[in-house]
Amino acid sequence: MRIRNDHGRFETRAIHAGQESDPHNGAVMPPVYLTTTYEQDAPAAPREGYEYSRTTNPTRLCLEENVASLEGGEWGLCFASGMAATNALLDKLVPGDHVIGGNDLYGGTYRIFKRVFERYGIGFTLVDAADTDAVRSAMRERTRFVFVETPSNPLLRLCDVAAVAEIAHAGGALAVVDNTFATPYLQRPLELGADIVVHSMSKYLGGHSDVIAGALVGRDEALREELAFFQNSVGGCLEALSSFLVLRGIKTLPVRMDRHCANARALAEFLEAQPTVERVIYPGLASHPQHELAARQMADFGGMLSFELAGGVAAADAFAVATRIFTLAESLGGVESLVEVPTSMTHAAIPAAERRAAGLADGLVRLSVGIEHADDLIGDATRALAAANERA
Ligand SMILES: *Cc1c(COP(=O)(O)O)cnc(C)c1O
Repeated sequence: MRIRNDHGRFETRAIHAGQESDPHNGAVMPPVYLTTTYEQDAPAAPREGYEYSRTTNPTRLCLEENVASLEGGEWGLCFASGMAATNALLDKLVPGDHVIGGNDLYGGTYRIFKRVFERYGIGFTLVDAADTDAVRSAMRERTRFVFVETPSNPLLRLCDVAAVAEIAHAGGALAVVDNTFATPYLQRPLELGADIVVHSMSKYLGGHSDVIAGALVGRDEALREELAFFQNSVGGCLEALSSFLVLRGIKTLPVRMDRHCANARALAEFLEAQPTVERVIYPGLASHPQHELAARQMADFGGMLSFELAGGVAAADAFAVATRIFTLAESLGGVESLVEVPTSMTHAAIPAAERRAAGLADGLVRLSVGIEHADDLIGDATRALAAANERA
């Protein structure tokens, strides 16, 4: 059943890994196998292991081979969403087990930890993952996962993956990295020592804001079998058409990421020079407190940036409403630029005092910088800043 086609450099594998032309008719793109079941040659003798599409589907398999190749893993498993992938991972745990998580994980990850799995007797300790001593002190005898995200959202804090993996391994735990923001083009956690990579492929890997999908990638075969068992048991598998859409998106990941990074850098430098912008948070700027770690751990600095407006939440809201190219919306990673105000939107549920203590200023604006022309994006930001200044 293996179709790895795993040759060449990253850009080449993005297009070819896990895919080959159809041996019968030469179709260059993998067919979308819209089938639930497969004919068997004799009872309990499925062809090439295909029995039922919750368990295995040829289109999904192409994508699984592809993401595994890009992350430098031995296997990939694709899920109906990023959260379904995280869910399958947490299904490994039993009451009394413990997980250490970064204190600025994606909100949905925080929610599945605290509102779903904590009810089953799993313990969660959330720490500042940038502080390796804090991670080390949080380790317990039953710690099974150290789960981090780097860069994080929306403050773009980094975590030293190699250091965290070492701490996890010393305590007999697995290091899990949510690589959604960086993508394997910019950062490969398995090569840095992590055991499992989690993806929301709804973001940069899909790349066009048109598909919800998730993945787990790793190297240990026994772990794959265990996770595949949970995926098949719980059922959150990715269906064929979505698998096809993500495969298509990934083909252009390297060229898209190059433009995302270049545009984000241009905007970061522009914003840093504006008098009403108090602070720009972008790992590629020398002013980012972890710029050195970013330069060491990532190939480039990504398409996400945040900045604080002196005028507080009124100015941030005014900015977000005044943009014409940046669309006011949650999510990220598509070809189109998006703007959101964490205080008013994604992080509104966190009490104001707690939000500020976590470093989330009221006037924070987050941009998912798309691949439009940089001059148009800077022009749009210029217009929106003028509107924000009027309001403040
Ligand atoms: C969106 C996102 C998720 C959740 O993924 P879904 O595909 O929306 O379920 C997890 N982690 C990060 C960093 C995300 O941005």
